[in-house]
Amino acid sequence: MTERDLLQLRQVSRHFGSFRALDEVDLTVRRGARHAVIGPNGAGKSTLFGLISGTLATTGGTILVDGKDVTRLPVDRRVGLGVAATFQHSSLFLRETVLENVLLAVLRRARARAAAGAGAGLGGWRRVSARTESIEQARTLLARVGLPGRHDVLAAALSHGERRQLEVAVALATEPRLLLLDEPAAGMSPAEAARLTELVAALPADVTVLLIEHDLDMVFELADTVTVMHLGRHLTTGSPDQVRASSEVQSAYLGTMEAAS
Ligand code: ADP
Ligand code: MG
Repeated sequence: MTERDLLQLRQVSRHFGSFRALDEVDLTVRRGARHAVIGPNGAGKSTLFGLISGTLATTGGTILVDGKDVTRLPVDRRVGLGVAATFQHSSLFLRETVLENVLLAVLRRARARAAAGAGAGLGGWRRVSARTESIEQARTLLARVGLPGRHDVLAAALSHGERRQLEVAVALATEPRLLLLDEPAAGMSPAEAARLTELVAALPADVTVLLIEHDLDMVFELADTVTVMHLGRHLTTGSPDQVRASSEVQSAYLGTMEAAS
């Protein structure tokens, strides 16, 4: 791992009983990368994200973020280190409003920072102004993901595509350095997917993005690096052109994925 790298997985495994959902995967993600992970269903992509975000425990190997071993850290500590994820199965609070969902994430980030010793506890008017600031941040994020004017709607009332947009706003609210997006375009209309692609492309260069996506147009438009997984194993990592040109990937994986979608 060098200074250039933000994330490194060394021989990371996750077994469920005798089943190897992930088997000794090595992966390095460069700082500022737009790194896509592709592979057929069941390849272990979502499991990989669970291990990186901390929602799932490893059964072997080491995960480093910025050189720090996070393998055994709980989710909140990883959020404090700048790791944020959207999940394939939504983690929104459906009975809360759109604004509340983002606001909760903004406040979570503030708490994680305070727990990391970044600031003393706030009292009196400073707490009030911190809340006003947090609401302002939440509004800005909602505008950024394309959900202005939807603040007071319950998350449950959003369309599928809008929920995914909200999930991205929730993830961005934690001011991540590493943003994990698990099939963000799944179930979106082509217009919604195009808008999401623009949003991800416009993220600041210092936000490193690791993206699982079946929409290969989106992958090849956004990604500077592509990793292909298959049956719990790392198959190959390269530039989009290298991956597209790899006959092994072509015949075995891109073909089946395109056929499946
Ligand atoms: P992908 O996201 O690439 O489609 P997943 O990471 O979701 O793949 O799943 C990889 C494999 O691990 C699949 O065969 C899946 O059935 C299995 N798996 C995932 N989670 C569990 C679990 N909690 N218990 C048992 N098997 C699981
Ligand atoms: Mg998945």
